[in-house]
Formats: sequence, C-alpha cells, structure tokens
Amino acid sequence: MRDVMVDLETLGTVPGFAILSIGAVAFDEDGLYGDDNGEGFYAVVHRPTCVEAFLTVCPETLKWWEKKSEDARQVLTQSLDPHGSLPLAEALERFNVFLSKFGGRQMARVWGNGSDFDNAGLACAYDAAKVRPGWSFWNNRCYRTFKNLARDVEMEREGTYHNAFDDARSQALHLVKILKAKGLTLG
Ligand SMILES: [Mg+2]
Repeated sequence: MRDVMVDLETLGTVPGFAILSIGAVAFDEDGLYGDDNGEGFYAVVHRPTCVEAFLTVCPETLKWWEKKSEDARQVLTQSLDPHGSLPLAEALERFNVFLSKFGGRQMARVWGNGSDFDNAGLACAYDAAKVRPGWSFWNNRCYRTFKNLARDVEMEREGTYHNAFDDARSQALHLVKILKAKGLTLG
C-alpha cells in the first residue's frame, strides 16, 4: 500500500498559503485502506503558527469561505483554538508518521487535486516549518489530471464538502472507481 490521497483546506490558492487542515486516506485498486473514518489522517493547523512561519492569508480566500457551509466553516474557528488545533510543525510531523505507514520517502505516492495545489502547498509549508517532507517529490501524483481523463466516471461526494478528510476520502473513492471502470492499475 503506497498511495495516499491528500486534501488541504487553506487560506490561499498560491503555494505559500496558510493551511487550515490536512486530510488524507490511503488506498489501492480495491478501495480505501480500512474503509472507515478511523484509518485516515486529519489535522487542523493552529493558524498563528502558519502566520509565524510566513505562510500567507489571502483576503479573497477568506471571502470565499464566507459562502461555504457552516459545517465546512467550523475549521476556521477551530484553527484559531490552540486546544482544537496543532502547531504547523507538529501537524506536518504527524502527517509524516502517517505517510511512513505507506512507504514514506521511498515509496509513498501522494495524490492531490491537483499536485500543483495540495502537494506544492504542502511542500511550501514543510519548508516554512523547517520539517523534512515524508514523501519524495517524484512520487507526487495529480488526481485533477487523472479525473479529467475519465470525465464519464462520476464522483459521488460523501460527508462535508470542503472538509479535508471527507474530500480526500471522496476523491480517493472516485479514483478507485475510475481505475475499475477503465481497467487500470496503480503499478
Ligand atoms: Mg477540500
């Protein structure tokens, strides 16, 4: 098992953005690893620690959040609560521990929507927090490109749209559905 779908909720769209939350699930051609909510990764990041690391907060993205559902928006207040969130470096270290279960720096393939957003934004955050990423850049994979090569295979969204864990889970399930529909393997 070495494929991990990651989703970030953020306060910007250009890598270098502050991260509100990190969600991830591991999967293979058959489905999600231990398909229940306990097996994935979820962390809310304490917002002041992003700002201290010079990650940016974009006013337009803050405005964009105003139109999102109340459930999705909970992460905005949680990220300001030191008891409901983790310092940036700690959240990233914990994500590394999660990745290490699925191949880590040698093997773990990390999928983002797209890799120029989630993967690059994560890599910037690791750099800002001076934590070594738990995967290698050559193992970046782009779910956005992949899903656009199979537009006939519909995504079924589960949970709260714009919750990082629910999004990662829905995206991974969609990817698996595409693999099955097209007779593809992850290799
Ligand atoms: Mg999302």
